[in-house]
Amino acid sequence: SSTLEIKDLHVEIEGKEILKGVNLTITGGEFHAVMGPNGTGKSTLASAIMGHPKYEVTKGEILLDGEDVLEMEVDERAQAGLFLAMQYPSEISGVTTSDFLRSSINAHREEGDEIPLMKFIKEMDEAMDYLEMDKNMAQRYLNEGFSGGEKKRNEILQLMMIKPAIGILDEIDSGLDIDALKIVSKGINKLRDESFGCLIITHYQRLLDYITPDKVHVMMNGRVVKSGGPELAERLEAEGYEWIKEELGIED
Ligand code: ADP
Ligand code: MG
Ligand code: MG
Repeated sequence: SSTLEIKDLHVEIEGKEILKGVNLTITGGEFHAVMGPNGTGKSTLASAIMGHPKYEVTKGEILLDGEDVLEMEVDERAQAGLFLAMQYPSEISGVTTSDFLRSSINAHREEGDEIPLMKFIKEMDEAMDYLEMDKNMAQRYLNEGFSGGEKKRNEILQLMMIKPAIGILDEIDSGLDIDALKIVSKGINKLRDESFGCLIITHYQRLLDYITPDKVHVMMNGRVVKSGGPELAERLEAEGYEWIKEELGIED
């Protein structure tokens, strides 16, 4: 199993410091939830891990099994085993969902080890059945005209087929009705094993009714300010974030 270590990570966007020293370690077999109010840097953390060019790391380290992730290009990060399901998946006109999925799987594999077409089709069919997806979606252009729920299921389809070492799911629950939420959770839970570690970013604790995290982290003002077990998420659901601010003496 793999370990992703984030140490004292500082990130700027257009000269403004957004992450102010994030520390977090995820190992295969573990599900970690990152919660926190809007605008505290959760998506920034996800984008910085994946190497989005707009996010400048000014200090700190990201290590995957001891390897320096910050030295890697975006495609090398994917190949090393990192996968991000984005908060707002993009539409790509002219590229079918199936073609995108196949090239995305191959981008996570070594050159010369591409997934054989028939194996791909069989696995895609099975995963789409599991996620109760309409098979026609595979031949439609990526995310074009997909509902919010369809886009998120499509991200989970990728996750299930890529089976990355570390998956980062940014608000995979946003915009989902309860049935879609259950299906998306079912897909994520199916991946639970020693070879898979998951960072689940969510604003609400609702998703955590279906996916039990091993650890819960609260982010505020660009830092992880509190960590605990699943009971921490329940307390946030019941009481919001104010008590943490008071406890830690954080001013707005
Ligand atoms: P969260 O995901 O926790 O809601 P974000 O990481 O999206 O928070 O945003 C953190 C802060 O960074 C916010 O103040 C937001 O306005 C700012 N920010 C995020 N992305 C960009 C961007 N691409 N350009 C400028 N500012 C950004
Ligand atoms: Mg947000
Ligand atoms: Mg966000």
